[in-house]
Amino acid sequence: MLIAYEEFTRRTDAVRARIAAACARAGRDPRDVELLAVTKTHPAGAADYAARYGLRAVGENRVQEAVEKRPQLAPASAALRWELIGHLQSNKSRLAARHFDRVQSVDSEKLLLHLDRAAAELGRTLPVLLQINAGDDPAKFGADLADAPRLVEAALAKKNLRVDGLMTIAPLGTTPAETAAHAERTFANLRTLRDELASRFATPLRELSMGMTGDLEPAVAAGSTLVRVGTALFGSRSGGRSEPA
Ligand SMILES: *Cc1c(COP(=O)(O)O)cnc(C)c1O
Repeated sequence: MLIAYEEFTRRTDAVRARIAAACARAGRDPRDVELLAVTKTHPAGAADYAARYGLRAVGENRVQEAVEKRPQLAPASAALRWELIGHLQSNKSRLAARHFDRVQSVDSEKLLLHLDRAAAELGRTLPVLLQINAGDDPAKFGADLADAPRLVEAALAKKNLRVDGLMTIAPLGTTPAETAAHAERTFANLRTLRDELASRFATPLRELSMGMTGDLEPAVAAGSTLVRVGTALFGSRSGGRSEPA
């Protein structure tokens, strides 16, 4: 069930206040941190809410779910951008390249190859982020830190892809303190990696997609430019913490 729009605006205001407070502590400009509304598992109306509030983009973790929802949106939501944040199998690359404005979950050279080919067929340039398992989480997708340089180099060589930056998900701990420590370490790793690779390949890799409902503060402190927030905006998803399928 979708919450009422008034409730959504209250929640979104509160998340923006969290981002602003974290930016103030870090000496950052809140305009440099975008809020991506994660609408997965919620009805298409959740994306309409995001557009109506003035958010620029929504995140979905399954290709098929976005393909079904996107045509259901109100005409006023047409400018909303759709970003894929969940694991992508290479056999769904063409569908993803057609229906998403950006793919954040690119984690292998094989996927790069398929997405580049799909974008070429569509005659478009597809913006991507490279997903890095910066917290060494055995349960998470994403390229290993050690493989990241090769992946970035391969991505930059693809003519039909535009590499905007990096994305990561921090591992959960067994206690809140451990989860917080994982988040700090993971986000610091991604930031350091980005700075190194940006310099090595002489390209900005501007976007650092990191931080969710539970860990957006440490992410902003470490330099996040894009926080992906679902639960704090729309309430909990039935089925709990949902992982890409
Ligand atoms: C679901 C999801 C989110 C949002 O998580 P919340 O804890 O609900 O804010 C962010 N990023 C990814 C990759 C996700 O799958």
